[in-house]
Amino acid sequence: MQTPDYNALFTARLDILRAEGRYRKFATLERPAGKFPHARWHTPDGVRDVVIWCSNDYLGMGHNAAVRDAMHDAIDAGSTGAGGTRNIAGTHFLHVELERTLAELHGKDAALLFTSGYSANQTSLAALGAILPGAVILSDASNHNSMIEGIRRSGAEKLVFKHNDLADLREKLASVPSAQPKVIAFESVYSMSGSMAPIVEIVALAKEFGALTYIDEVHAVGMYGDTGAGVAHALGVADQIDIIQGTLGKAFGLGGGYITGTAALVDCVRSYGNGFIFSTSLPPVIAAGAIASIRHLASSNVERTLQRKHVKYLREQLTIAAIPFVDSESHIVPVLVPGAAHVRQVSDRLLEDHGIYVQPINYPTVPRGEERLRFTPGPKHTPDLIDALVKALVILDLRCERGALPLPEPTPAAVRCPVSAEVSTNSKTA
Ligand code: PLP
Repeated sequence: MQTPDYNALFTARLDILRAEGRYRKFATLERPAGKFPHARWHTPDGVRDVVIWCSNDYLGMGHNAAVRDAMHDAIDAGSTGAGGTRNIAGTHFLHVELERTLAELHGKDAALLFTSGYSANQTSLAALGAILPGAVILSDASNHNSMIEGIRRSGAEKLVFKHNDLADLREKLASVPSAQPKVIAFESVYSMSGSMAPIVEIVALAKEFGALTYIDEVHAVGMYGDTGAGVAHALGVADQIDIIQGTLGKAFGLGGGYITGTAALVDCVRSYGNGFIFSTSLPPVIAAGAIASIRHLASSNVERTLQRKHVKYLREQLTIAAIPFVDSESHIVPVLVPGAAHVRQVSDRLLEDHGIYVQPINYPTVPRGEERLRFTPGPKHTPDLIDALVKALVILDLRCERGALPLPEPTPAAVRCPVSAEVSTNSKTA
Protein backbone atom coordinates (compact mmCIF):
# COMPACT_ATOMS: atom_id res chain seq x y z
CA MET A 1 0.00 0.00 0.00
CA GLN A 2 1.36 3.38 -0.96
CA THR A 3 1.40 5.95 1.84
CA PRO A 4 1.92 9.71 1.50
CA ASP A 5 5.51 10.96 1.53
CA TYR A 6 4.89 13.56 4.21
CA ASN A 7 8.36 15.00 4.07
CA ALA A 8 8.08 15.58 0.32
CA LEU A 9 4.72 17.31 0.88
CA PHE A 10 6.18 19.60 3.53
CA THR A 11 9.23 20.39 1.39
CA ALA A 12 7.06 21.18 -1.63
CA ARG A 13 5.05 23.69 0.40
CA LEU A 14 8.22 25.37 1.64
CA ASP A 15 9.58 25.46 -1.91
CA ILE A 16 6.54 27.51 -2.95
CA LEU A 17 7.41 30.14 -0.35
CA ARG A 18 11.07 30.12 -1.37
CA ALA A 19 10.20 30.56 -5.06
CA GLU A 20 8.02 33.58 -4.19
CA GLY A 21 10.71 35.07 -1.94
CA ARG A 22 8.33 34.77 1.04
CA TYR A 23 10.23 32.13 3.01
CA ARG A 24 10.69 33.54 6.50
CA LYS A 25 14.20 33.79 7.89
CA PHE A 26 14.64 34.78 11.52
CA ALA A 27 17.61 36.78 12.72
CA THR A 28 18.80 35.39 16.07
CA LEU A 29 19.33 38.37 18.32
CA GLU A 30 20.61 39.12 21.78
CA ARG A 31 19.48 42.37 23.36
CA PRO A 32 22.03 43.30 26.04
CA ALA A 33 20.35 45.03 28.99
CA GLY A 34 20.02 48.77 28.68
CA LYS A 35 21.64 48.93 25.23
CA PHE A 36 18.48 48.81 23.08
CA PRO A 37 18.21 49.47 20.10
CA HIS A 38 21.79 48.15 19.87
CA ALA A 39 21.77 44.39 19.74
CA ARG A 40 23.98 41.42 18.95
CA TRP A 41 23.20 39.29 15.93
CA HIS A 42 24.21 35.65 16.23
CA THR A 43 25.34 34.37 12.82
CA PRO A 44 26.96 31.05 11.90
CA ASP A 45 30.22 33.03 11.52
CA GLY A 46 30.09 34.79 14.87
CA VAL A 47 28.33 37.60 16.69
CA ARG A 48 27.88 41.07 15.11
CA ASP A 49 26.63 44.39 16.48
CA VAL A 50 23.44 45.63 14.82
CA VAL A 51 20.75 48.27 15.40
CA ILE A 52 17.17 47.04 15.67
CA TRP A 53 14.76 49.20 13.64
CA CYS A 54 11.59 47.11 13.64
CA SER A 55 10.92 46.30 17.27
CA ASN A 56 7.47 46.64 18.78
CA ASP A 57 9.10 47.33 22.14
CA TYR A 58 8.42 50.84 20.93
CA LEU A 59 9.70 52.69 23.98
CA GLY A 60 12.40 50.25 25.09
CA MET A 61 10.43 49.41 28.24
CA GLY A 62 11.67 45.81 28.15
CA HIS A 63 14.95 47.27 29.44
CA ASN A 64 13.58 49.91 31.79
CA ALA A 65 15.32 49.73 35.19
CA ALA A 66 12.07 49.76 37.20
CA VAL A 67 10.67 46.93 35.07
CA ARG A 68 13.79 44.83 35.47
CA ASP A 69 13.89 45.45 39.23
CA ALA A 70 10.25 44.45 39.61
CA MET A 71 10.90 41.26 37.69
CA HIS A 72 14.03 40.41 39.71
CA ASP A 73 12.08 40.96 42.92
CA ALA A 74 9.21 38.80 41.67
CA ILE A 75 11.57 35.94 40.83
CA ASP A 76 13.26 36.18 44.20
CA ALA A 77 9.82 36.07 45.80
CA GLY A 78 8.99 32.85 43.92
CA SER A 79 6.64 34.38 41.36
CA THR A 80 8.03 32.58 38.31
CA GLY A 81 5.54 30.35 36.46
CA ALA A 82 1.80 30.43 37.12
CA GLY A 83 1.39 26.74 37.91
CA GLY A 84 -1.88 26.26 36.07
CA THR A 85 -4.85 27.78 34.35
CA ARG A 86 -6.57 30.61 36.21
CA ASN A 87 -9.17 28.11 37.36
CA ILE A 88 -6.68 25.50 38.56
CA ALA A 89 -4.12 27.04 40.92
CA GLY A 90 -3.02 29.64 38.33
CA THR A 91 -4.51 32.83 39.79
CA HIS A 92 -1.69 34.72 41.47
CA PHE A 93 -2.09 37.96 43.40
CA LEU A 94 0.05 39.68 40.72
CA HIS A 95 -2.54 38.74 38.06
CA VAL A 96 -5.25 40.33 40.15
CA GLU A 97 -3.15 43.43 40.77
CA LEU A 98 -2.30 43.73 37.07
CA GLU A 99 -5.97 43.42 36.09
CA ARG A 100 -6.82 46.15 38.59
CA THR A 101 -4.02 48.34 37.16
CA LEU A 102 -5.27 47.83 33.58
CA ALA A 103 -8.90 48.54 34.47
CA GLU A 104 -7.78 51.73 36.19
CA LEU A 105 -5.58 52.76 33.23
CA HIS A 106 -8.54 52.51 30.85
CA GLY A 107 -11.16 53.79 33.31
CA LYS A 108 -13.15 50.55 33.15
CA ASP A 109 -14.77 48.31 35.80
CA ALA A 110 -12.64 45.27 35.09
CA ALA A 111 -9.88 43.70 33.00
CA LEU A 112 -9.00 40.15 32.00
CA LEU A 113 -5.52 38.86 31.19
CA PHE A 114 -4.52 36.49 28.39
CA THR A 115 -1.18 35.00 27.45
CA SER A 116 -1.00 37.20 24.33
CA GLY A 117 -2.80 39.99 22.55
CA TYR A 118 -3.59 37.44 19.86
CA SER A 119 -5.35 35.19 22.34
CA ALA A 120 -7.18 38.18 23.86
CA ASN A 121 -8.68 39.05 20.46
CA GLN A 122 -9.35 35.54 19.28
CA THR A 123 -10.90 34.41 22.56
CA SER A 124 -12.94 37.52 23.33
CA LEU A 125 -14.46 37.94 19.86
CA ALA A 126 -15.24 34.22 19.66
CA ALA A 127 -16.87 34.38 23.10
CA LEU A 128 -18.90 37.47 22.19
CA GLY A 129 -20.51 35.52 19.37
CA ALA A 130 -21.50 32.78 21.81
CA ILE A 131 -22.65 35.27 24.45
CA LEU A 132 -24.80 37.28 22.01
CA PRO A 133 -26.91 34.85 19.96
CA GLY A 134 -27.71 36.12 16.48
CA ALA A 135 -25.03 38.82 16.67
CA VAL A 136 -23.53 40.51 13.63
CA ILE A 137 -19.89 41.55 13.86
CA LEU A 138 -18.90 44.49 11.65
CA SER A 139 -15.18 44.18 11.01
CA ASP A 140 -12.79 46.72 9.45
CA ALA A 141 -11.22 45.26 6.29
CA SER A 142 -7.72 45.84 7.66
CA ASN A 143 -8.28 44.11 11.00
CA HIS A 144 -5.50 41.91 12.37
CA ASN A 145 -5.57 38.16 11.84
CA SER A 146 -6.32 37.57 15.56
CA MET A 147 -9.60 39.48 15.21
CA ILE A 148 -10.48 37.74 11.96
CA GLU A 149 -9.89 34.34 13.58
CA GLY A 150 -11.93 35.31 16.64
CA ILE A 151 -14.84 36.46 14.50
CA ARG A 152 -14.63 33.28 12.41
CA ARG A 153 -14.87 31.16 15.55
CA SER A 154 -17.67 33.27 17.03
CA GLY A 155 -20.22 31.79 14.66
CA ALA A 156 -21.64 35.32 14.30
CA GLU A 157 -22.53 36.78 10.94
CA LYS A 158 -19.64 38.93 9.70
CA LEU A 159 -19.94 42.14 7.68
CA VAL A 160 -16.61 43.57 6.53
CA PHE A 161 -16.59 47.34 6.03
CA LYS A 162 -14.01 49.16 3.93
CA HIS A 163 -10.97 50.28 5.88
CA ASN A 164 -11.80 53.40 7.95
CA ASP A 165 -14.80 54.05 5.65
CA LEU A 166 -17.60 55.60 7.71
CA ALA A 167 -20.11 55.69 4.84
CA ASP A 168 -19.66 51.98 4.23
CA LEU A 169 -19.91 51.24 7.95
CA ARG A 170 -23.13 53.27 8.17
CA GLU A 171 -24.60 51.44 5.20
CA LYS A 172 -23.75 48.06 6.72
CA LEU A 173 -25.10 49.03 10.15
CA ALA A 174 -28.33 50.25 8.57
CA SER A 175 -28.73 46.89 6.80
CA VAL A 176 -28.99 45.02 10.13
CA PRO A 177 -32.38 44.95 11.93
CA SER A 178 -32.25 47.27 14.95
CA ALA A 179 -33.09 44.53 17.46
CA GLN A 180 -30.19 42.35 16.32
CA PRO A 181 -27.02 42.58 18.49
CA LYS A 182 -24.18 44.31 16.64
CA VAL A 183 -20.48 44.63 17.45
CA ILE A 184 -18.12 46.99 15.57
CA ALA A 185 -14.59 45.56 15.71
CA PHE A 186 -11.71 47.81 14.69
CA GLU A 187 -8.20 48.97 15.63
CA SER A 188 -7.00 52.38 16.74
CA VAL A 189 -3.59 52.19 15.00
CA TYR A 190 -3.20 49.81 12.06
CA SER A 191 0.25 48.36 12.37
CA MET A 192 1.33 47.85 8.78
CA SER A 193 0.32 51.27 7.41
CA GLY A 194 0.25 53.34 10.60
CA SER A 195 -3.25 54.60 9.72
CA MET A 196 -5.51 55.62 12.58
CA ALA A 197 -9.23 54.91 12.90
CA PRO A 198 -11.83 57.71 13.03
CA ILE A 199 -12.70 56.57 16.56
CA VAL A 200 -14.98 59.46 17.55
CA GLU A 201 -17.10 59.00 14.42
CA ILE A 202 -17.25 55.22 14.83
CA VAL A 203 -18.43 55.66 18.42
CA ALA A 204 -21.14 58.06 17.21
CA LEU A 205 -22.32 55.53 14.60
CA ALA A 206 -22.34 52.79 17.22
CA LYS A 207 -24.58 54.92 19.45
CA GLU A 208 -26.90 55.77 16.56
CA PHE A 209 -27.36 52.11 15.60
CA GLY A 210 -27.17 50.57 19.08
CA ALA A 211 -23.95 48.64 18.44
CA LEU A 212 -21.20 47.59 20.86
CA THR A 213 -17.68 48.81 20.09
CA TYR A 214 -14.59 46.56 20.33
CA ILE A 215 -11.30 48.39 19.78
CA ASP A 216 -7.85 46.81 19.44
CA GLU A 217 -5.37 49.31 20.91
CA VAL A 218 -2.43 46.92 20.69
CA HIS A 219 -0.21 49.44 18.89
CA ALA A 220 -1.43 52.36 20.97
CA VAL A 221 -1.33 51.38 24.64
CA GLY A 222 1.63 52.96 26.39
CA MET A 223 2.06 55.22 23.37
CA TYR A 224 -0.84 57.68 23.17
CA GLY A 225 -2.46 59.91 25.78
CA ASP A 226 -0.53 61.39 28.67
CA THR A 227 -0.94 58.23 30.75
CA GLY A 228 -0.39 55.83 27.85
CA ALA A 229 -4.01 54.66 27.92
CA GLY A 230 -4.30 54.68 24.11
CA VAL A 231 -5.89 56.73 21.37
CA ALA A 232 -9.51 56.40 22.54
CA HIS A 233 -8.48 57.84 25.89
CA ALA A 234 -6.43 60.61 24.25
CA LEU A 235 -9.52 61.57 22.22
CA GLY A 236 -11.71 61.52 25.35
CA VAL A 237 -13.99 58.69 24.19
CA ALA A 238 -12.58 55.68 26.06
CA ASP A 239 -15.62 55.75 28.36
CA GLN A 240 -17.86 55.26 25.33
CA ILE A 241 -16.01 52.21 24.00
CA ASP A 242 -17.40 48.95 25.32
CA ILE A 243 -14.32 46.72 25.02
CA ILE A 244 -10.74 47.98 24.87
CA GLN A 245 -8.23 45.28 23.99
CA GLY A 246 -4.48 45.69 24.40
CA THR A 247 -1.15 43.93 24.69
CA LEU A 248 1.67 43.91 27.21
CA GLY A 249 4.03 42.81 24.45
CA LYS A 250 4.62 46.03 22.53
CA ALA A 251 5.04 49.45 24.21
CA PHE A 252 4.89 47.82 27.66
CA GLY A 253 7.87 45.72 26.57
CA LEU A 254 6.94 42.25 27.86
CA GLY A 255 4.20 39.89 26.67
CA GLY A 256 0.57 38.98 27.30
CA GLY A 257 -2.74 40.56 26.34
CA TYR A 258 -5.94 41.81 27.90
CA ILE A 259 -9.41 43.21 27.51
CA THR A 260 -11.14 45.81 29.67
CA GLY A 261 -14.83 46.63 29.90
CA THR A 262 -17.83 46.45 32.19
CA ALA A 263 -17.78 43.93 35.05
CA ALA A 264 -20.52 41.83 33.44
CA LEU A 265 -18.88 41.73 30.01
CA VAL A 266 -15.44 40.82 31.38
CA ASP A 267 -17.02 38.17 33.61
CA CYS A 268 -18.76 36.70 30.56
CA VAL A 269 -15.49 36.39 28.60
CA ARG A 270 -13.85 34.93 31.73
CA SER A 271 -16.64 32.36 31.92
CA TYR A 272 -17.09 31.52 28.21
CA GLY A 273 -13.70 32.26 26.60
CA ASN A 274 -11.98 29.00 25.72
CA GLY A 275 -8.56 30.54 25.09
CA PHE A 276 -8.74 31.99 28.60
CA ILE A 277 -10.21 28.98 30.41
CA PHE A 278 -8.01 26.26 28.94
CA SER A 279 -4.56 27.89 28.99
CA THR A 280 -1.91 28.24 31.70
CA SER A 281 -2.00 31.83 32.89
CA LEU A 282 0.67 34.45 32.32
CA PRO A 283 3.85 33.88 34.40
CA PRO A 284 3.46 36.15 37.47
CA VAL A 285 6.99 37.48 36.90
CA ILE A 286 5.67 38.99 33.65
CA ALA A 287 2.72 40.47 35.51
CA ALA A 288 5.13 42.09 37.99
CA GLY A 289 7.13 43.67 35.14
CA ALA A 290 3.96 44.78 33.36
CA ILE A 291 2.63 46.55 36.44
CA ALA A 292 5.93 48.44 36.75
CA SER A 293 5.91 49.28 33.04
CA ILE A 294 2.30 50.53 33.00
CA ARG A 295 2.87 52.62 36.14
CA HIS A 296 6.05 54.11 34.72
CA LEU A 297 4.42 55.11 31.44
CA ALA A 298 1.37 56.46 33.28
CA SER A 299 3.56 59.03 34.98
CA SER A 300 6.38 59.66 32.47
CA ASN A 301 6.09 61.35 29.11
CA VAL A 302 9.85 61.34 28.53
CA GLU A 303 9.88 58.20 26.38
CA ARG A 304 6.82 59.21 24.32
CA THR A 305 8.17 62.72 23.69
CA LEU A 306 11.59 61.54 22.52
CA GLN A 307 10.04 58.82 20.41
CA ARG A 308 7.76 61.29 18.63
CA LYS A 309 10.72 63.59 17.98
CA HIS A 310 12.65 60.73 16.33
CA VAL A 311 9.66 59.60 14.26
CA LYS A 312 9.30 63.15 12.95
CA TYR A 313 13.02 63.40 12.19
CA LEU A 314 13.00 60.08 10.31
CA ARG A 315 10.00 61.20 8.19
CA GLU A 316 11.74 64.51 7.42
CA GLN A 317 14.96 62.79 6.38
CA LEU A 318 13.13 60.23 4.23
CA THR A 319 11.28 63.05 2.52
CA ILE A 320 14.48 64.98 1.83
CA ALA A 321 16.12 61.81 0.50
CA ALA A 322 12.99 61.00 -1.60
CA ILE A 323 12.54 57.55 -0.11
CA PRO A 324 8.90 56.41 -0.60
CA PHE A 325 7.12 55.88 2.71
CA VAL A 326 3.52 55.70 3.92
CA ASP A 327 2.76 58.88 5.82
CA SER A 328 0.39 58.89 8.78
CA GLU A 329 -0.19 60.51 12.15
CA SER A 330 1.12 57.49 14.02
CA HIS A 331 4.55 56.28 15.09
CA ILE A 332 4.91 53.66 12.35
CA VAL A 333 6.99 54.48 9.27
CA PRO A 334 6.60 51.93 6.47
CA VAL A 335 9.03 52.28 3.54
CA LEU A 336 7.63 50.69 0.41
CA VAL A 337 9.83 48.16 -1.38
CA PRO A 338 7.40 46.33 -3.69
CA GLY A 339 8.17 42.70 -4.57
CA ALA A 340 8.68 39.89 -2.05
CA ALA A 341 12.10 38.90 -3.38
CA HIS A 342 13.23 42.52 -3.56
CA VAL A 343 12.19 43.49 -0.05
CA ARG A 344 13.95 40.36 1.26
CA GLN A 345 17.09 41.31 -0.66
CA VAL A 346 17.05 44.89 0.65
CA SER A 347 16.53 43.67 4.21
CA ASP A 348 19.47 41.25 3.83
CA ARG A 349 21.75 44.00 2.48
CA LEU A 350 20.78 46.39 5.27
CA LEU A 351 21.65 43.78 7.87
CA GLU A 352 24.77 42.36 6.32
CA ASP A 353 26.33 45.53 4.89
CA HIS A 354 25.06 48.21 7.28
CA GLY A 355 24.23 46.43 10.57
CA ILE A 356 20.61 47.64 10.27
CA TYR A 357 18.02 45.07 11.26
CA VAL A 358 14.54 45.50 9.77
CA GLN A 359 12.44 42.50 8.88
CA PRO A 360 10.74 42.45 5.43
CA ILE A 361 6.94 42.55 5.53
CA ASN A 362 5.17 40.69 2.75
CA TYR A 363 2.02 38.74 1.87
CA PRO A 364 -0.18 37.75 3.69
CA THR A 365 0.65 40.45 6.24
CA VAL A 366 0.27 43.08 3.48
CA PRO A 367 -1.22 42.65 -0.02
CA ARG A 368 1.14 41.44 -2.76
CA GLY A 369 2.85 44.41 -4.43
CA GLU A 370 2.77 46.43 -1.18
CA GLU A 371 5.78 44.80 0.45
CA ARG A 372 7.55 47.08 2.86
CA LEU A 373 10.11 47.65 5.57
CA ARG A 374 8.35 48.82 8.71
CA PHE A 375 10.47 51.20 10.79
CA THR A 376 9.59 51.98 14.38
CA PRO A 377 11.94 54.65 15.73
CA GLY A 378 12.05 54.80 19.51
CA PRO A 379 13.41 57.16 22.17
CA LYS A 380 16.93 55.76 21.77
CA HIS A 381 17.11 55.95 17.96
CA THR A 382 19.25 59.08 17.93
CA PRO A 383 19.48 61.47 14.94
CA ASP A 384 22.90 59.92 14.14
CA LEU A 385 21.34 56.47 13.86
CA ILE A 386 18.52 57.89 11.73
CA ASP A 387 21.02 59.61 9.41
CA ALA A 388 22.91 56.33 9.02
CA LEU A 389 19.68 54.49 8.21
CA VAL A 390 18.59 56.98 5.55
CA LYS A 391 22.08 56.96 4.03
CA ALA A 392 21.92 53.16 3.76
CA LEU A 393 18.49 53.34 2.07
CA VAL A 394 19.90 55.82 -0.44
CA ILE A 395 22.90 53.58 -1.13
CA LEU A 396 20.46 50.71 -1.75
CA ASP A 397 18.78 52.89 -4.37
CA LEU A 398 15.30 53.07 -2.86
CA ARG A 399 14.72 56.67 -3.91
CA CYS A 400 11.68 57.81 -5.87
CA GLU A 401 12.37 59.00 -9.36
CA ARG A 402 10.55 62.29 -8.99
CA GLY A 403 11.88 63.88 -5.87
CA ALA A 404 10.53 64.16 -2.37
CA LEU A 405 7.09 62.99 -1.26
CA PRO A 406 4.21 63.58 -1.51
CA LEU A 407 4.02 62.49 -5.11
CA PRO A 408 0.94 62.72 -7.33
CA GLU A 409 -0.90 59.90 -9.07
CA PRO A 410 -1.94 57.56 -6.32
CA THR A 411 -1.66 53.96 -7.44
CA PRO A 412 -3.73 50.93 -6.38
CA ALA A 413 -1.30 50.57 -3.48
CA ALA A 414 -2.11 54.09 -2.36
CA VAL A 415 -5.82 53.45 -2.57
CA ARG A 416 -5.52 50.62 -0.07
CA CYS A 417 -3.39 52.73 2.21
CA PRO A 418 -4.80 54.97 4.95
CA VAL A 419 -6.88 57.97 4.04
CA SER A 420 -4.20 60.35 5.26
CA ALA A 421 -1.41 58.47 3.53
CA GLU A 422 0.34 59.74 0.47
CA VAL A 423 2.00 56.75 -1.05
CA SER A 424 4.45 56.58 -3.86
CA THR A 425 5.12 53.48 -5.82
CA ASN A 426 7.10 55.47 -8.32
CA SER A 427 10.29 54.23 -6.79
CA LYS A 428 12.82 52.48 -8.93
CA THR A 429 12.04 49.40 -6.93
CA ALA A 430 8.42 49.07 -8.14
N1 PLP B 1 -3.63 42.99 17.33
C1 PLP B 1 -2.83 43.61 16.46
C2 PLP B 1 -3.38 44.76 15.68
C3 PLP B 1 -1.50 43.20 16.26
O1 PLP B 1 -0.73 43.82 15.37
C4 PLP B 1 -1.02 42.11 17.01
C5 PLP B 1 0.37 41.63 16.88
O2 PLP B 1 1.20 42.12 16.19
C6 PLP B 1 -1.88 41.49 17.92
C7 PLP B 1 -3.18 41.94 18.05
C8 PLP B 1 -1.41 40.34 18.74
O3 PLP B 1 -0.79 40.84 19.90
P1 PLP B 1 0.37 39.99 20.60
O4 PLP B 1 1.62 40.21 19.81
O5 PLP B 1 0.41 40.51 21.99
O6 PLP B 1 -0.07 38.55 20.53
